Amino acid sequence: MAEIQLRNINKRWGSFVGVDNFDLTIADQEFLVLLGPSGCGKTTTMRMIAGLEDATEGEIIIDGKVVNDLDPKDRDVAMVFQSYGLYPNMNVYDNIRFPLKVRKVPENEHDERVRRASAMVELDEFLHRKPAELSGGQRQRVALARAIVREPNVFLMDEPLSNLDAKLRVSTRAQIKNLSHELKVTTVYVTHDQIEAMTLADRVVVMKQGKVQQVGTPTDIYDHPANTFVASFIGSPAMNLMDGTLSGGTFSGDKVSIAGLPGADGPVTLGFRAEDATLAEGSAGQIMAPIYTIELLGDATMLTVRAGGQLVSVKAHKEFRAKIGDMISFNVPVAICHLFDKESGTRID
Ligand code: ATP
Repeated sequence: MAEIQLRNINKRWGSFVGVDNFDLTIADQEFLVLLGPSGCGKTTTMRMIAGLEDATEGEIIIDGKVVNDLDPKDRDVAMVFQSYGLYPNMNVYDNIRFPLKVRKVPENEHDERVRRASAMVELDEFLHRKPAELSGGQRQRVALARAIVREPNVFLMDEPLSNLDAKLRVSTRAQIKNLSHELKVTTVYVTHDQIEAMTLADRVVVMKQGKVQQVGTPTDIYDHPANTFVASFIGSPAMNLMDGTLSGGTFSGDKVSIAGLPGADGPVTLGFRAEDATLAEGSAGQIMAPIYTIELLGDATMLTVRAGGQLVSVKAHKEFRAKIGDMISFNVPVAICHLFDKESGTRID
């Protein structure tokens, strides 16, 4: 069992607040992703769990034990970083074995554990090679195997895929997901990549400037973003957001009018996703706009249109063909609209 409780964790350097009142229980075997832009405090949060950084305030409890005063080596957590941290003079076998030596695991267990961990990340054929003789993806897998071999209670992963090229990132991502399923180890994973977060996480924590914005399953966060920051950070393309006024259930924005919305009168931001807009025949749609750009995605065609003063994404069928500058019209079904308070950005339910 390795439940992790973070009880009102704060990290301050002088007057600068790096992490502000982080309060969360991470369930045993959960895959939790900390997501946010550069500088939002996700690495610092993870380093506090690892013991590489002291919390200014708050309690960190792993498996029922307060660990604030424990050294990293006594916390039973294994870390994987974006820089693989391999020993260049040791071959793959010895790199993977290293944590067992440090931890004084009985020698007679080493070989079996190294071979089991290396098989899990499909490195069996490379055990004799030095890190310099491996590709980036293979090095990252050595780093993973070195974490796995310890059989820790907790995995902490800090952007482990960010040094890999796009294709390798996708395959290694799938491997990490499969490993976490097999090993059933509580995992905290840091990334600024929302696709990584959505594909890997049981729950995602979205952070901004040290503050948690929302905690939820990928579906929760995608379908019910708590504020405009989360709405624009999750999803590709980002959610379309339009400022305007709600009056008697009708949203009026720049050349846009949508009736039948719930909510009190006042300034609001209306949000909808590209895939939720539906193209209409001729000029029958709620919104008419000229095409700004067309991107063929293979399984769909992504249109960007200029609606009033802003660019809006609309997903069309893969066979949709038009030219830049053509006028299209589309509808935004009321049921899929998101409304946010214009001032605070908070979701209005
Ligand atoms: P990135 O994706 O760029 O790694 P991050 O979300 O992981 O970003 P952190 O590394 O946790 O961000 O940093 C959070 C904030 O704390 C940043 O603004 C950073 O500049 C600041 N910070 C980090 N370490 C220190 C330090 N030792 N002293 C002062 N400020 C720090």
